[in-house]
Amino acid sequence: MMSNPAINPNGVLKGKIALVTGASRGIGEAIAVRLAMEGARVVCTARTAEEGESRLPGTLSDTIRRIRAAGGEATFIKADLSRGEDRERLVEDAVAAFGGPIDILVNNAAVTFFIPIETFPERRFDLMMEVQVWAAVHLAQMVLPGMREKQAGAIVTISSGAAIHPVKPYGGRGPGGAVYGMCKAALERFSTGLASEVYNDNISVNAISPGLVATPGVAVHGLITEATKHRVSPVENIAEAVFQIVSRDAKTMTGRVDHATPFLEEFGVAASALV
Ligand code: NAP
Repeated sequence: MMSNPAINPNGVLKGKIALVTGASRGIGEAIAVRLAMEGARVVCTARTAEEGESRLPGTLSDTIRRIRAAGGEATFIKADLSRGEDRERLVEDAVAAFGGPIDILVNNAAVTFFIPIETFPERRFDLMMEVQVWAAVHLAQMVLPGMREKQAGAIVTISSGAAIHPVKPYGGRGPGGAVYGMCKAALERFSTGLASEVYNDNISVNAISPGLVATPGVAVHGLITEATKHRVSPVENIAEAVFQIVSRDAKTMTGRVDHATPFLEEFGVAASALV
């Protein structure tokens, strides 16, 4: 990894405006920081603006303070992605924030419940589908006209290995992940489908799976155990994979569904440390 991470205001994302969902903590925070390091102006969004608003660590204020302290450009807009009116206000305000359309959309936010299908409450199913799947589609609908006009843009959706069908013999994956897997499988198919729809407009659409990453959300679900700790990936790898995928040629780097670490290996890239 790079030893002295820094913001490069003249980086390859100079002049680009990025919208990153779920940027109050975890993977979304890391992605926001990484894009800002390459000169992007980053709009961070989530529900938690200030300390005390969530039981989990991390706030939008902290994320943008971290970027600004290093000399980068970032702002935040508080929004609940389960609400259509919040999503609409988010995109309107994001465009106004830096005075231009969104060049890069990162659909990272997720709300997840691990509950066996037999007892999965409809209300929670609807919430997961709304925040993970429909919000990604709706945000894409709202940023695509600006991208089409520019004939440039990048949309990345954060998926999960849970999108892949469980393999036999069963028993390795804990119970309760079917709905999460459904959301991520839907997102991957959305991503490749949209990639083909907007190919002629020079807009890339990709999905990146993180692998297992130590984040506040993962801590809540107790997913890092003695049995899984050997496969934990650094959050820098996911941030790097997202940066790499949005900064490459949209005509060749589109329609991909990748895990972050093998993706970096394929392109011989080492993840940068984060400011
Ligand atoms: P996390 O620590 O739980 O963070 C989730 C983010 O989503 C937070 O910023 C949260 O912000 C935001 N969010 C949740 N509900 C929201 C809502 N209704 N409206 C707006 N924002 C909302 O999660 P993470 O581990 O960083 O995961 C990020 C992404 O990677 C997710 O898509 C997850 O499925 C995927 N992933 C993670 C792993 C892993 O090992 N960490 C593995 C595979 C896939 P607020 O609470 O402030 O709203």
